[in-house]
Amino acid sequence: MTRQRAALGPSVIPGWEVLYDKPEHKAQYLRHESADTYALLCVTHEVAVLLKEFHDDRELLRQGGWCAGCVKGEVA
Ligand SMILES: [Zn+2]
Repeated sequence: MTRQRAALGPSVIPGWEVLYDKPEHKAQYLRHESADTYALLCVTHEVAVLLKEFHDDRELLRQGGWCAGCVKGEVA
């Protein structure tokens, strides 16, 4: 089986690896190591949101409010 893209490295969440870094959003795009499952991680709060579709992160980042910590304005 061929992976579409090599991971940048392991993420802070065990079992997940970083596929893309999105520093402008303080976010990382994660992929599960053993499944085609993707998530968006808030680097500040280490909160991950599962993505239903591969490109759902764009919609989440555009809308904002996907990380509860950021919504409350919490400083990690
Ligand atoms: Zn956050």
